[in-house]
Amino acid sequence: MAIFAMLTLSIMKIVFATGNPGKLREAAEILGDAFELVTPAQVGIGEDIPETGTTIRANSLQKAQYIYERTGLDCFADDTGLEVDLLDGAPGVETARYGGPARKSADNIRKLLTEMERRGEGPRTARFRTCVTLILQGKTHFFDGVMEGSIARTPYGNGGFGYDPVFIPEGYAVTAAQLPEAQKNAISHRGKALRAMAEFLKR
Ligand code: IMP
Repeated sequence: MAIFAMLTLSIMKIVFATGNPGKLREAAEILGDAFELVTPAQVGIGEDIPETGTTIRANSLQKAQYIYERTGLDCFADDTGLEVDLLDGAPGVETARYGGPARKSADNIRKLLTEMERRGEGPRTARFRTCVTLILQGKTHFFDGVMEGSIARTPYGNGGFGYDPVFIPEGYAVTAAQLPEAQKNAISHRGKALRAMAEFLKR
């Protein structure tokens, strides 16, 4: 007698509240084939999602709620800040617009290196902090991730996005922009937070 088994692979469709192609690419790689990521534009939200909170967690929650309140769909958001010890934790919640309202990475990096230069010698240690907010069936869950490292004196590398060309992960001699994407994701703030979310969703 033949026994037939049917294997059902379920793919979870979820909205990722971001317009940042770098974040989207990394999240797709980190979460893998078990998830289908949907962009805000694909569910009819074409405008910039407001980020007016005073903490990374508040901004992350604000972005996820913006999507949930308008669509009722399961969704998640990522808000990330860079904390530099020489700058007493700045740019922190200002990370995206540190170099001006245009939010350009080159301007942000220029401002960061200029401010550090102005402070003179001192520790160049820093960290990326990500808060992921998941809204699942109307309930909110938070997942955090941190990547420790230090700030290079000049930008190196073409990979990654944002501040990656000046961020040297702890234990490495190159910037995050010089690492293959899979390697950055294996150690990054975003990788840690999103893998924690994926584990929670699998349970
Ligand atoms: P937000 O989370 O969209 O507010 O972005 C915060 C800022 O941090 C933006 O300027 C991003 O480009 C930058 N950023 C976010 N994640 C990363 C990362 O993984 N590497 C480098 N820069 C990042």
